[in-house]
Amino acid sequence: MKKKAGAAIVAVMAVALAAGTVPAKRPADIGWPSYGLNPAETRYSSLDQITPANVGQLGVAWYADFDARSLRGVEGTPIVVDGVMYASGPWSKVIALDARTGRKLWSYDPDFEGGIARRACCDVVNRGVAYANGKVFVGVLDGRLVALDARTGKPVWTAVTTDPGKSYTITGAPRVIGNKVLIGNGGAEYAVRGYVSAYDVDSGKLAWRFYTVPGDPAKGFENKAIAMAAKTWRGEWWKYGGGGTVWDSMAYDPELDLLYIGVGNGGPWDIKVRSPGGGDNLFLSSIVALKPETGDYVWHFQEVPGDQWDYTATQHMILADLTIDGRLRKVLMQAPKNGYFYVIDRQTGQFISGTPYVPLNWSKGLDPRTGRPDIAPEARYGSEKPFIGLPSPAGGHGWQPMSYSPKTGYVYIPTAEIPYGYIAEDAAKFHYDPRGWNTGQDPARTAMPEDPKIRAQIRGMMGGALIAWDPVARRKMWSVPMPMPWNGGVLSTATGLVFQGNGEGEFAAYDATTGRKLWSAHLDSGIVAPPVTYRVGGVQYVSVAVGWGGILPLNMGEALKKAVPPRVNRIVTFRIGGQAALPKLPPLERAPLDPPPATAPPEQVAEGHRIFHTNCWMCHGDSAVNHGGVPDLRRSAAIADPATFKAFVLEGAAEPLGMPNFSKDLTPGQVEAIRAYVIKRANDLKADPSQP
Ligand code: CA
Repeated sequence: MKKKAGAAIVAVMAVALAAGTVPAKRPADIGWPSYGLNPAETRYSSLDQITPANVGQLGVAWYADFDARSLRGVEGTPIVVDGVMYASGPWSKVIALDARTGRKLWSYDPDFEGGIARRACCDVVNRGVAYANGKVFVGVLDGRLVALDARTGKPVWTAVTTDPGKSYTITGAPRVIGNKVLIGNGGAEYAVRGYVSAYDVDSGKLAWRFYTVPGDPAKGFENKAIAMAAKTWRGEWWKYGGGGTVWDSMAYDPELDLLYIGVGNGGPWDIKVRSPGGGDNLFLSSIVALKPETGDYVWHFQEVPGDQWDYTATQHMILADLTIDGRLRKVLMQAPKNGYFYVIDRQTGQFISGTPYVPLNWSKGLDPRTGRPDIAPEARYGSEKPFIGLPSPAGGHGWQPMSYSPKTGYVYIPTAEIPYGYIAEDAAKFHYDPRGWNTGQDPARTAMPEDPKIRAQIRGMMGGALIAWDPVARRKMWSVPMPMPWNGGVLSTATGLVFQGNGEGEFAAYDATTGRKLWSAHLDSGIVAPPVTYRVGGVQYVSVAVGWGGILPLNMGEALKKAVPPRVNRIVTFRIGGQAALPKLPPLERAPLDPPPATAPPEQVAEGHRIFHTNCWMCHGDSAVNHGGVPDLRRSAAIADPATFKAFVLEGAAEPLGMPNFSKDLTPGQVEAIRAYVIKRANDLKADPSQP
C-alpha cells in the first residue's frame, strides 16, 4: 500500500516537473561558516553555479554599508551561517544581514574610546568573526573578546583578553575548535608580549593561554616550551615585551588534532636593543603547533631566527595533502612576509621546501635540510648605514588571505614588492615608550629621502601582483600585475575561477589555470578584503567588503598614490543576473594647496620631522605624503593656525573621527615643530607639483 502511494507521488511529481509547475529540488544552502571557510583555511569553494562561461553575467544582488564612525579601512571576511551574513567592519563593529537581500537584522557597536587608534599600528580594522552554538564571536580593538547572541546581536559574555594598561590591540578573527574559541592579539611594535588564549564557547571562561615569547625569568616560566625558548634570548628582553604577537593566522587539522598559530615579529625590531648578543629569539617569526584542548606545545618551525625586519610568520597558513617526490605529504603552506614560500610537514614541523616567491635580499638561501636561512651579513643593519631591504615590513605578502585550489594545485597569492630602508637608532639612545611606537629604528632616517628623484627611483622598484604558485613544482605559473602593491585577498572555486579586488577598486574574476581576466566591476573604493561565496535559496552569491584600508607604517606613501581611499565601507554581493545598482558617489576632490610660507628655523623643522616620523606617519603617511583614508596634512587648513593645529593634536578636536589625542605624549612645543615640518612639506609640494 505504502509503496503504491509512493509510486503515485513520484508519477504526479514527474508530470508536474515535465509541465514546469514545480521547481526542481532546490540545492541545499551552503554557507561560509568560518574565517578561512574550513579548518584547513583553503578558501576554495566547491560551489559551481558561477562558471567561466557565465561569470560575465555577474551583477550586483545587494549592498549594505557599515555604520562607521569615520571612513577607515575594511579587511574583513564576512561569514555566512544559516542564511545570515555576519560581517565586521572598522572599530570592531559587527552587522548581521539577510544573506539573500542584504537586509540589516542587527548591528553591534563595542563602543570604546577613539584614542585607542593611537596603539593600532595599521588602522582600526577587524578581519572577521567566528560562529558557534548560536553565538557570534568578535575580537574588539581594545582587547575584549565578545560573544554575541546570533539572533539579536546582544552580548552574551565578554572576556578581557589583554592587560588594558598595555598597548595590545585585536584585529584578527577568532577561531572555534570544539568548545573553545581562540584569540590572539597585536602590538609587537608597542612592546607587548605575544600570546594566544582559548576561552570556553559557552561561559567565556579562560581555558588556557600560550605565550609565544618568554617573560621575566625571575617570575618563572609558564611551561617547558617557554623555558626552552628563553635559552635563545639575551639581555633583559622582557622589559620591552619581546613581541611575537599572534595577530592573524591560525589553522586546524582535526585528524591530527593540531592547532597551528603564526607568530609575529620581534619587539623592538632592533635585536641589539631587544636581545643584545643575538640569539634565535624563539618563537618569533615561527609557526607553532599546539594541542587545542590544553594549549600544550607540540612543535615549532622558525622562519627568521633573530628577526629584525618585522618579518612575521603571521601570514595565512593553508593545510593540504600534496604528493611530493612520489610521497603523499600532509603539509602546511605559508607565504610569509620574508618572501619565501614554505611547505612544512604539518605532523612533525619538518621543513620540506622554501622558495622565493618575490625578489628578496635579506637571505642568500635556506638550508635544504632544516630550512634555516643564510642571512646576508649586510641585512644585519646597525645605526651606521641603512639596509635597503626586500621585502619590506609590509612583506612580500601581507595579511591578505591566499587561496589553494586542489583542482589546479595552485596557491593564489596577492604579492607586494616594496623596498624599505632599515636603519637602527643608536642602541644606547633607545628610549622605551610604553605607549608608543618602539621599533628601535631611527625615526629621522627611516623616512624616505625627500629628494623627488630618489623617491621616483624607489617608486620604480615597487609593484604588486596576483600570482598562481605551484607548491610542488615550486614555481610561479602565472602572474597578473596590479596597478599598486597593496591589494585584496583571494577566493578560488571548483569551476576554475579566482576572485580578487585591488587597491584601485576593481573587483575581478580570473581563469584559475591561465590568469586570464574573465570579468570585472568597479566598486568606488579600494579593496583589500578577501571575497567569499555561498549558496542560499538555490542561488550562489559572491561577496566582498569594499573600503581600502590597513594603513601602512611605511615609507611608501606614493606607491599607494593610486589607492582609492575608503569612500565607503560596504559589503557588495553579486549573483548571476543581479540587477541592483550601487549609488553614485561624488567625484573625489582634493583640498586646495594653500600653505602659509615656510619661515620656521631648520632646527625646528628637523625636530618636527623626527617627531612626525614617530607619532604621525602611521596614519598621515611618510614625509607627510598622505595615502588615503585620513586627511593630507599638507592640504589641511589647520596648518595655517597654531591654535587650530594644537586643538587637533592635543585637545582631541578630531577624536570623534578616530584621531587620537596626544596630550599625554607631546608638548605644545613639539606640536609646533610638527606644524613647521608639515608647512615645509606643503611648500615643497607647491614648489614642485610633480611631487606626489
Ligand atoms: Ca609588525
